[in-house]
Amino acid sequence: QIFMPLNFLGFVYREIRGSLANIDKLFDLLAQTPAISDDENAIELKCANPALRFNDVHFAYTENRPILKGLSFDVPPGAKVAVVGESGAGKSTLMKLLFRFYETNKGKITIDGKDITSLTQQSLRGHIGIVPQDTVLFNTTLLENIRYGNPDATDDDINSVLKLAHLQAFVESLPEKLDTTVGERGLKLSGGEKQRVAIARALLKGAPIMIFDEATSSLDSTSEQAILSALCDAAKGHTSLVIAHRLSTIVDADKILVLKNGTIVEEGTHTSLLERQGEYATLWQTQQRDSEDKVNERTT
Ligand code: ADP
Ligand code: MG
Repeated sequence: QIFMPLNFLGFVYREIRGSLANIDKLFDLLAQTPAISDDENAIELKCANPALRFNDVHFAYTENRPILKGLSFDVPPGAKVAVVGESGAGKSTLMKLLFRFYETNKGKITIDGKDITSLTQQSLRGHIGIVPQDTVLFNTTLLENIRYGNPDATDDDINSVLKLAHLQAFVESLPEKLDTTVGERGLKLSGGEKQRVAIARALLKGAPIMIFDEATSSLDSTSEQAILSALCDAAKGHTSLVIAHRLSTIVDADKILVLKNGTIVEEGTHTSLLERQGEYATLWQTQQRDSEDKVNERTT
């Protein structure tokens, strides 16, 4: 269970960095933030192939500034649903709510038809593997960094997630392979490599739901391709929610949701949304143009 709080370091760190100037305020915040406790009749979630549903979810971090205003969508068992939208639209918030890091103000979130507030937090979080936007790597070996997704993992388990995360060739290229020390005091990984380590770590947990919060930082096209393949393989056999910044990663999603002003303004497949010529189509055209500009810059 140590996995859960540590995996949240990325979130917590960002929030602290973004909203607080000094340590005194951190303690104020900790004192004010009520810990969410289990219902006394909380049940254990046990489901290998769950459906996920947001039903009229309203949420605000602070009064008078609603972030989500009646959000509804579902992710059928084993499906891959993507969420896109401008920065600040509330995409990462969705996943914090699902993990019950915060409570909704109205509406509910269900997994396998069960309201997440009726579940033990341990079993809820045990069912969700998260690839956060910012991955925290510890100053230890690559193996330990991955294994911490599941301390009981066997060598076979490790090899299989390395393969799914498309990390094998990278590991082979390192002088000390999996025993290479990484992190601030070791080998510095590129953004793309870090993300794939995060994917391997999350997969090792063996949870049926996978949430990917794609990093915003730009990647070179080789890293982009590697992430794309890793994301695709990692989502297989899972109910997955992908928060995407590069639309190329979600072209194959079963459903794409466009989040704007606290609600879903468009919903459909990549093709149907392009045909619609609305928000998604505009977003797609802008990204295509930007990547063409980059190619032109390189060739001219
Ligand atoms: P996205 O992931 O779509 O970029 P987020 O879900 O991170 O957006 O944030 C949605 C909005 O909520 C933003 O305006 C952001 O500033 C605000 N927000 C995020 N986290 C907090 C927080 N802990 N306290 C107050 N406001 C927050
Ligand atoms: Mg985000």
